[in-house]
Amino acid sequence: MFSFTNIKAFHKELLEGSTTCVDAVQHFIAKIEEKKHLNAFVEVYDSEALEKASALDLQRAQGLPLKKLHGVVIAIKDVICYKGHHTTAASAILKDFTSLYTATALQYLINEEAIIIGTCNCDEFAMGSTNENSTYGNVLNPWNESKVPGGSSGGSAVALQSGMCMLSLGSDTGGSVRQPADFCGVIGLKPGYGRISRYGLIAYASSFDQIGIFGKNIEDISLLLNIMSIPDYHDSTMQTLLMRPLHNAGALNRKFKFCVFKEVLEHSSLDPEIKASLKKVEKELKTQGHQVEQVDFDLLEYIVPAYYVITTAEASSNLSRYDGIRFGHQSTQAAESIDAFYKNNRSEGFGPEVKRRIMLGTFVLSTGYYDAYYTKAQQVRRLVMQKVEAIFNEYDAIIMPSSPGTAPSIGAAGNDPVAMYLGDIFTVFANLAGLPGIALPLFWHNVNNLPYGLQVMTNKQDEVTLLEIADLILQQYPPRF
Ligand code: GLN
Repeated sequence: MFSFTNIKAFHKELLEGSTTCVDAVQHFIAKIEEKKHLNAFVEVYDSEALEKASALDLQRAQGLPLKKLHGVVIAIKDVICYKGHHTTAASAILKDFTSLYTATALQYLINEEAIIIGTCNCDEFAMGSTNENSTYGNVLNPWNESKVPGGSSGGSAVALQSGMCMLSLGSDTGGSVRQPADFCGVIGLKPGYGRISRYGLIAYASSFDQIGIFGKNIEDISLLLNIMSIPDYHDSTMQTLLMRPLHNAGALNRKFKFCVFKEVLEHSSLDPEIKASLKKVEKELKTQGHQVEQVDFDLLEYIVPAYYVITTAEASSNLSRYDGIRFGHQSTQAAESIDAFYKNNRSEGFGPEVKRRIMLGTFVLSTGYYDAYYTKAQQVRRLVMQKVEAIFNEYDAIIMPSSPGTAPSIGAAGNDPVAMYLGDIFTVFANLAGLPGIALPLFWHNVNNLPYGLQVMTNKQDEVTLLEIADLILQQYPPRF
């Protein structure tokens, strides 16, 4: 029986001949089939993945060396372009769209001999926190199928959690990797803004979007990050500073200085048990000789509004290309004018949440309201960045929960989108400031037996410290996957 723990062990088994890439792919295809009701996948590339696996097995038999991701089975969120394959952003407007090129980050993985197993379900255009806004229907949380898996990369989190792949990719504009990782009890990394090329990632809000990684151990996540962060001239917002080599051997002996925001601990939406666990971590870190201090962050109440003003403004512009001519569904209704033609295409193609955000974004950019909303929100963003700069002059990392609560029930958000938006309070901060952040699955809720954990954020461009801290914390709280 095939089983996967980490890439190193898998490669050892391949070299010893105790398993093959075909075994691995067959195992994951069977798992995907067995757990089909969770609705994590949009499309499974079964025959293609098997073909690739046998080609790799043959290569090894001929004595060719293994590349870094030889046979590593990866699932991708349905917003990452893959040439010749459907990429739909879980939207009816792109239902027949076939990618014309491959996203750079994905190409880097393929170059290292990764096997792409299929595309994962998500919220339409990555807009949502529950994976309920998908044209393919909602995804179920594997720990309790009446709960949401989180969003928008819910399918990728579930695919990883339920053993349908070795690692998966999501995208994180305001928490879409960290929050579903938290709700599903896996590790979710959002690199800092610009760390991974966005070329070929379907845009939601371009100054926030970042490809992220779901995994079950830090070493594999670091390896993927390292491979995907190779500079790409197609994305001019990519950071130019190369990362230090990962896994600094001395890191575990290093003492860090952490800060916790007072306003987070005192926030009325924070579940008391999650708060108690955060306090517990704080105490344990101190016992180990690290410093943890409380810091004021009086901008907390402004970050969700600022995030939703700027992201919807950017989305209204990014999504204007889906007009039925350049991209997207074309209505068969007779139209009397070009305006009516666009209107039919877009009305039929987009779902309600996407429409709401396009309208909100258009409104905040409109003459007369621009300064009151868009300019104000940008000013808040600037203040957040200044504050962050001051914090990192003194501290190595910020710790807080990923979400104020555990996974809500399916349908609980009902007709109240603002309630859903407010749940993003602890994740949008990292995107507004461009920081790297990671969700670590550390705890189980006593009342509802659902996973939750801790979020760690470090300074811009400092993913290495982030992963070192993550390693350190996970050693104290071995996750139950
Ligand atoms: N929940 C947030 C939103 O709906 C985050 C989305 C994301 O990170 N893609 O905008």
